[in-house]
Amino acid sequence: MPKKTVKDIDVKGKRVLVRVDFNVPLKDGVITDDTRISAALPTIKYLIDRGAKVILVSHLGRPKGQVKEEFRLDPVARRLSELLGREVTKVDQCIGEEPKKAISQMREGDVLLLENVRFYAGEKENDPQFAEQLAELADVYVNDAFGTAHRAHASTAGVARYLPAVAGFLMQKELEMLGEAVNNPKHPFVAIIGGAKVSDKIGVIENLLNKVDTLIIGGGMANTFLKAKGFNVGRSLVEEDKIDLAKGLLQKAAANKIELLLPDDALVADSLESPTAIKTVPVEKVPEDYMILDIGPDSAKKFASAVQKAGTVVWNGPMGVFEQKAFAGGTEEVARALAESHAVSVVGGGDSAAAVKKTGVADRISHISTGGGASLQFLEGKELPGVAALQDA
Ligand code: ADP
Ligand code: MG
Repeated sequence: MPKKTVKDIDVKGKRVLVRVDFNVPLKDGVITDDTRISAALPTIKYLIDRGAKVILVSHLGRPKGQVKEEFRLDPVARRLSELLGREVTKVDQCIGEEPKKAISQMREGDVLLLENVRFYAGEKENDPQFAEQLAELADVYVNDAFGTAHRAHASTAGVARYLPAVAGFLMQKELEMLGEAVNNPKHPFVAIIGGAKVSDKIGVIENLLNKVDTLIIGGGMANTFLKAKGFNVGRSLVEEDKIDLAKGLLQKAAANKIELLLPDDALVADSLESPTAIKTVPVEKVPEDYMILDIGPDSAKKFASAVQKAGTVVWNGPMGVFEQKAFAGGTEEVARALAESHAVSVVGGGDSAAAVKKTGVADRISHISTGGGASLQFLEGKELPGVAALQDA
């Protein structure tokens, strides 16, 4: 069900509480990547242009319900102010007299940033009283924080009980791109699932097995599937307790007539931390004392060729230990294949998004989700609490 957005409501002169995801990486108090702030700009600028009083609320880090100096949002307010080219007032509280007073002095088009909402225990507890206190500050609520939409917290879900609640542009784009890819894909629909563990992605694989034409499994999790097929994978990461589940998924794919692609060859090494020997072997010949750390070149070609023929590709999870250059080749080749294909390409998952950026092809991907956990839950076919709380269009 599509959701109402800021475009569907009148915001002029209104106090608009916007939940954004300003959970940016900080090093010694300096923001090292402001992608998340930039991603919220379209909604903020739209509201400014329409004469709203824009009240922003976000979390940062894990202060665990307490005030922690290193997680104050002052550096974020400064960066936002630079990006907007206008003053952003920052207050040191989220509820009570201080923000109320500052808000009463706002003019149309002004922007105010509340303090880190996770300084309050009521945020994560989704405490109704805390949600109501947040709601008291505003006339309308906008959720533009897709990255936290899988959490039912006070500022992501609870507050919507007390105010008219709509989606911001980033939220709308995420729902549209992920929703189209999963529920209305152009065929052939190819999903590439990787990453370390099967257990993290069971829900995603199960949901996508009902939808895709081709399922590609790579990364560490492929080892468990290879073992389920009877291959010996040496000292590779394997989830022994998921081998039966992997067998079941292989059977289901066959029964649904889904093409399921596993690696045919692999890059193996004698150690992850300090490899002294790295070689490419067929998956049926992994040496006893070696571990699989990336897909091999034949597998990368096979996966790339499936991507080339696709109408829609959804990718979640790297093909190898891409953080290390020696084992990044498979992931990079898949990223390039995605960039070169004419398919609608959607990337979800924090590490996968990082890998695509590292490969330098981010601008040729149709959509890179800003939400790791949220995109995963979306791919599992579950409704996100932060989305469910918004008004239907
Ligand atoms: P995402 O964040 O995109 O959802 P995951 O968090 O599920 O991805 O997986 C990413 C992690 O998987 C990376 O840290 C990577 O090193 C690891 N990984 C990939 N392949 C292997 C492998 N063969 N052995 C061990 N770890 C792997
Ligand atoms: Mg991850």
